Order: sequence, then C-alpha cells, then structure tokens
Amino acid sequence: MDITILGSGGCMIIPKPLCRCRVCSQARKKGGHYQRTGPSVFIHDENILIDTPAEISYQLNRSGIEKINYLLFTHLDPDHVEGFRAVEQIALDFRTWQSYEGKCIKLVLPEELFDRIGNIHSCYGPVIDFYLSSGFVDSVSYNKCISLGSIQITAIPVDRGNQTAFIYVIEKNLRKMVYAPCDIKPFPENRKEVFDADLLIIQPGMFETGLKHDFKYPDDHISRKTLYTFDETLRLAQRINAKKILFTHIEEYWNRSYDDYKELEKQFDNVRFAYDGLRVSI
Ligand SMILES: [Zn+2]
Ligand SMILES: [Zn+2]
Repeated sequence: MDITILGSGGCMIIPKPLCRCRVCSQARKKGGHYQRTGPSVFIHDENILIDTPAEISYQLNRSGIEKINYLLFTHLDPDHVEGFRAVEQIALDFRTWQSYEGKCIKLVLPEELFDRIGNIHSCYGPVIDFYLSSGFVDSVSYNKCISLGSIQITAIPVDRGNQTAFIYVIEKNLRKMVYAPCDIKPFPENRKEVFDADLLIIQPGMFETGLKHDFKYPDDHISRKTLYTFDETLRLAQRINAKKILFTHIEEYWNRSYDDYKELEKQFDNVRFAYDGLRVSI
C-alpha cells in the first residue's frame, strides 16, 4: 500500500494567518516541510482520498495526483470538510454545468455519516444535493466494512456522544494501516481490528510543555476531554501493538517546528512526525 500525507496540519494550518510566532515566522520564511496544511491522506493503490481540508485543491495540484476514484470522510468537522467543493472544481464541465465524463468521484461513507452529510449547506441548501444532481459525486453508504478494489476499509466509530467520528482500518494483502487523525477519544481499544497495525497514523495529542505564552493546561481544561496527552498517545499505540507510528494533524499551538519534531523522533525507534507530501509504503 502506498500513501501520501497530503496535509499534516490540524485545525490550524502553519503558518497560521497573520501569526508572528517563532514557528509560523520560520514556516513563512523557509516553506517546504515547515509549512503544514489541513489533514488529508491519499491512498495511491485505488486513488482514495480521505478528507478535504480547505487547502485540498492546492494539495492535489502539488502532489501530482491525476485521479480520485473514492472520497472518504473521517468525520464532518470543518477542518476535514471545508474543501468538499473540490469535487466541483475537479469535475465541472463549463459547457454543460455537469460533470466531465470520468471525473465523477464516488463518495463512500459509513451510514452514520451518510445520514449527516446533508447538514453541510450553502445558502442554496445541502451541497451534497447539488453535487449529486450535477454528477460531481455519486454516493454509496455502508455498514462497518467495504472493499474498494484491492483495499478493504473497516470504519470504527468513536463514541463521542452526538458527534460522529470514525477511525479507518485500511488493509491490503495482509498489511494494515489505521488512520486516526482527529476526534479519537475514547479510542475504541475494545475493537480487535485496531490492533497490530503495520502503520498507525494518529494525532500526537496534547503537548503539555513548551506551549506558546508558557501556557499550562489546567486539570479541568476542556481540551483534556477531547485529547489524549502525547504520553498517553504513545502508551495507547504500544497497547494496541502498532509497529510504526506516524503522527499527523499537528497543531500550530503545539509551538513546535519541523526541526523540533525531527529532534523528538530521535528518542524513539518507530515514531515519525508527518510533513506535507510525505509518501509512505506499507
Ligand atoms: Zn504561530
Ligand atoms: Zn481535525
């Protein structure tokens, strides 16, 4: 399985607009791996795109990707769906206002997300209705598992009350990747499918030291309800026996640069921090 991390950033891209902090200033100056756009990943084997952050069109252009067969969403939070209109940018034939032949993307969603996708609106109504009627996407919903060509996808829900987020277990030829970028607490450790991944792609969780403004998270801070700490995430990865860990969804407010993560990686044998455009074979 071959994947590209199209975007390694989180809710906040780096550089954060107008921000003059050390990390953002350096990213603005050096570019390259120092910049991070919103969270998304591409699986080359079957041309599968997971999530569409605001920068997705730019990410696709710089990646050299030529075709998308399937689009998946981990959940429908803005940092993962803001760029959904890329399907229109990709497919629109100006002569007919319908899709060019062969450009229609199959939107593949677990039932719970399929039921909610209509909540993403423009002022004219649910955007999905427009994309479907224009032929930019067609859609399929599934329960738990689906095969996309040579790739098997298992969608594992994270129990977050009225929010609905999924972790994807992605398998091909006995190789397994677990993609868990965002809204992963409480991690579904009761599901055997998340164990023994060849690669776990996961958010690093909360860093408690070295933050901007010397901020320290109080014990009752709201972020503790939604995020594991970095140490907890490492222990979680160990418990589920991930062979390799790739951290993504890396927030600007962790106040760490590409160089800082490179340095941190040296403490571990099986840990990497993603950067935009990183290609990995599993
Ligand atoms: Zn900044
Ligand atoms: Zn997110």
